[in-house]
Amino acid sequence: MAAGFDISALNKAQREAVMTLDGPVLILAGAGTGKTRTVTCRMSALLENGVASKNILAVTFTNKAAAEMRERVMEMVGKKRGKDLTVCTFHSLCVRILRRDIESVGYKKNFNIMAGGDQTGIIRQLIVRKGGAREKLKPAEVMSEISKAKNAELPLTGIEDDLIAEIAVAYQNELRAQNSIDFDDLLLLGEKILRENQAARDYWRDLFRYVTVDEFQDTNSLQMRLIQKLVGEPYNICVVGDDDQSIYGWRGADTANILQFERFFPNPHVIRLEENYRSTEAVLKVANSLIKHNTGRREKQLRPTIMGGDLVRLVTMPGDDEEAEWIVQEIVAQREEGKTLEDFAILFRTNGQIRKMENALREEKIPYRMVGAQSFYDRKEVRDVLGYVQLLADPEKDIALLRVLNTPPRGIGQNTTMLALDYSRDHDCSVWKTLIDEGFLADLSTRATGAIAKFVQQVEDHQRMLVDGKAAAEVLDSWLREMDFLPWLMTQCKTDKERDARNEAVSQTIGDVKVATQKGKSLQEFLDKTALDADKNDDDLDKKSGVTLITLHASKGLEYPIVFLVGLEEGILPHKRSQEEGTQDEERRLLYVGITRAKQRLTMTYCSTRVKYGKKEACEPSSFLPELDHDWIDEEDYDDLMGAEASDDDLRSFFSGIHSALE
Ligand code: ATP
Ligand code: MG
Repeated sequence: MAAGFDISALNKAQREAVMTLDGPVLILAGAGTGKTRTVTCRMSALLENGVASKNILAVTFTNKAAAEMRERVMEMVGKKRGKDLTVCTFHSLCVRILRRDIESVGYKKNFNIMAGGDQTGIIRQLIVRKGGAREKLKPAEVMSEISKAKNAELPLTGIEDDLIAEIAVAYQNELRAQNSIDFDDLLLLGEKILRENQAARDYWRDLFRYVTVDEFQDTNSLQMRLIQKLVGEPYNICVVGDDDQSIYGWRGADTANILQFERFFPNPHVIRLEENYRSTEAVLKVANSLIKHNTGRREKQLRPTIMGGDLVRLVTMPGDDEEAEWIVQEIVAQREEGKTLEDFAILFRTNGQIRKMENALREEKIPYRMVGAQSFYDRKEVRDVLGYVQLLADPEKDIALLRVLNTPPRGIGQNTTMLALDYSRDHDCSVWKTLIDEGFLADLSTRATGAIAKFVQQVEDHQRMLVDGKAAAEVLDSWLREMDFLPWLMTQCKTDKERDARNEAVSQTIGDVKVATQKGKSLQEFLDKTALDADKNDDDLDKKSGVTLITLHASKGLEYPIVFLVGLEEGILPHKRSQEEGTQDEERRLLYVGITRAKQRLTMTYCSTRVKYGKKEACEPSSFLPELDHDWIDEEDYDDLMGAEASDDDLRSFFSGIHSALE
């Protein structure tokens, strides 16, 4: 076989998988054992063996993973031969199926996919219409019930809560009336078409003669049934998965599918990969020691091919500020040893952990990219609030002033703004100076001058409060209240989740101001640190290079030479919801995914305190930590590492932390 890839670069079991092209193949293997590499080679092998690229389908979990897999195959076989390959997610596969045949399930051909705000909008209206005493019912809750029912293929009328059931049915009728479908319908209808429409089924089966599914452990039962319909005899299907990495239980993923597979596709060729090529022995020992605490799993151990390696570090931090600052220092130091920024990844569990890390990276001017979550500083409301902080510090910074001049709307329209901008340019002064310039105001309408006067008055009033010694965070807070900033912001939100997130981002920003000024920083120093002047930095930060900041969920399937896993605290990982919901095993798998991303060095951190809403709160170490094999862990303490005695400053904030914890 004139392979476009080097078969000798595979081990025996992997080679077996690559050579077994026909019939069902089940590759069950732990993290980093080369599953993705193997299926990628297998796809090239199919091409080498004369299978046309249009006859090959690979399904993966995210668009990013799909793009990467496609690229890897292309590298092996060349763009020309691989050009008609289909590598996509379940959802995009279903879009294709529906575009062709949705009429057969009663929709018109030019259907619309309804998502996000439109979807919530419909549900919110229905709650208002039907909610009665329960008008406070959250759209998100209704949506989640609808989604659960759809994924389990239960009738919407069967939803236990009568009101939610009624709303669900009305919602579905409304979608129907608009010839729209939602994300769950995509899968449902895709499966339905394949089930009921034989011509369609024959078409797709004939097209996709070889099917591969990566990350199979996160396939839910509906997706599983879709695969079953899509793949007919002789069952050329290869699935790859690791039950220890199933982390989407909340979407109804079902590891029982691995067992189901054997029922749907009889006598599969089962291949087990056992050698891990990604991580050092130390990392794997720690990973194995953790995952064995999960019950009901198939016993398996990852066998290292890279013996020894640096011990896994576990560093206790006094607080989340130190955590972020220390990690950034580590990156700087290791970079001097010759590592590149792309070698580093910082893995986190919750969005609340992002901001401090971004702050610290920005302060050192280290470029980074965010995966799986939104950057705190990309949040519009954060930029708006920082704009007001800038007005307090120095209103002559035009960018900030222009940003908030009519946000929230206060009657200073675009025309007036343009006039002010032109005037400031002609007179070589700031926009702020323009707004208080009689010469400029003379030509405006009385309405416009009235609005401007009111704004100027507000700025000056609040600056005076500062001069009078009122704390900056309080001044900011009362100003935002005075202009009804939050109520206005809330009207801009489409979902409850969005409302919560924006609300929280605003209070975090106010909290940041409080902390910074308590530490004796001026407002301008604070702003310079957070680099509000985003135009200066964004170029750098938007580049696809730099340190990776990534959620644990998004990190699945990826690998990095140096990994920092942060915030190993009770309530964060395991997440506090997991206790109520009884999903601790899934949290453990999530940590396992995180640990097994590391190739050479893994550092885990946890904080004794964490700032929430500007107040320090005490934290407990994650209950997963005692489960780890401490023979392979080097426990360290921030203070020892820094070799410094606590400064007065630290002591003061430590005690004020204790006070606020007691309050
Ligand atoms: P995950 O469970 O995290 O998705 P995986 O099983 O898909 O992991 P891959 O990402 O395919 O694993 O491979 C992990 C690493 O090991 C990659 O860097 C890959 O190139 C390397 N690798 C895989 N097989 C071999 C091999 N036979 N020889 C050398 N390196 C290999
Ligand atoms: Mg993989």
